[in-house]
Amino acid sequence: MIDLRSDTVTKPTDEMRAAMASAEVGDDVWGDDPTVNRLESVAAEWLGKEAALFVPSGTMGNQVAVMTHCRPGDEVLVEAEAHVYWYEVGGIARLAGAQPRTIHTPAGLLTPDLVRGAVREENIHYPTPRLLCLENTHNRAGGKVHPLTEFRAVTDLAHSLGLKVHLDGARLANAAVAQGITMAEAAAGADSVMCCLSKGLCAPVGSVLAGTREFIAEARKNRKVLGGGMRQAGILAAAGLISIEKMVGRLQEDHQLAQDIAAALQDMPHLTCDLAKVETNMVQVDLDRPAGPVVDALAREGVLCGTSGPTRIRLVTHHDVSGAHPAEVAKAFRTALA
Ligand SMILES: *Cc1c(COP(=O)(O)O)cnc(C)c1O
Repeated sequence: MIDLRSDTVTKPTDEMRAAMASAEVGDDVWGDDPTVNRLESVAAEWLGKEAALFVPSGTMGNQVAVMTHCRPGDEVLVEAEAHVYWYEVGGIARLAGAQPRTIHTPAGLLTPDLVRGAVREENIHYPTPRLLCLENTHNRAGGKVHPLTEFRAVTDLAHSLGLKVHLDGARLANAAVAQGITMAEAAAGADSVMCCLSKGLCAPVGSVLAGTREFIAEARKNRKVLGGGMRQAGILAAAGLISIEKMVGRLQEDHQLAQDIAAALQDMPHLTCDLAKVETNMVQVDLDRPAGPVVDALAREGVLCGTSGPTRIRLVTHHDVSGAHPAEVAKAFRTALA
């Protein structure tokens, strides 16, 4: 099986399993786990922030960030298809008690003009605009990179309007590698940033949230509210350290494989696949028919994938499919669509 459903299906590497087995641990709620402490300090430096917090999932990292930046009733500005709004079970409303205000974009990228247009002046009737959430790479836009200069223009504008900025960087490592910049450069301008270790970076569990020391101290309490205070979590942090230290550079291979798969699907009947839109490790395939039955047929041909719209298939490349041949994927599509 070639499993292209998501980079979350990656399993911990042998090196990770060995590091997990021998990790030094303690009770992290008491601050006693040396491996978690090391991960948090390495992650802070990696992301160019003062401090970091290890969280069980990207969703918890995003939601803790929103809870920490906002008070109930505040307004959160967010791109209309951003993960924090689209896929997190209404957490902005349920957990932070804040109100999302969505901004529609043609291809997932917020611009200074779009943000300026969405921020309303003070008025007794309006909620207080508090936070802007950005996403890089943008998941529903097909792994799209928010280029550094454009990203900084948006964060500068947001700050000039008195907003805080949270960056959902679940796949920020893909964005950094694609642009040839460091993680700290990619996260500069954001007041807080979340990055998943459990996707293309292969850790079994875990994400990191980074920001100022003061922000992370409050985020630590909010993580506890959500039941995210973990005990001997160094077992997991040991794998996360390897994600940060050893798994970032190879993401270029995932990006190349995505390009090669998209190239192999060019000119095939019954689908369109825009090669120019493949910027990182995702390929979007638009079909001339409902996607569900095609996904089932592809599975029978040995290719697992998911949908990201009624007639759209999403393929995600990652470490555990690095030996897959683009021609095999194309063959499965040809049969499934015949
Ligand atoms: C996967 C993802 C998340 C959430 O991460 P989980 O660990 O699955 O909770 C958040 N944002 C984006 C953009 C993602 O792709």
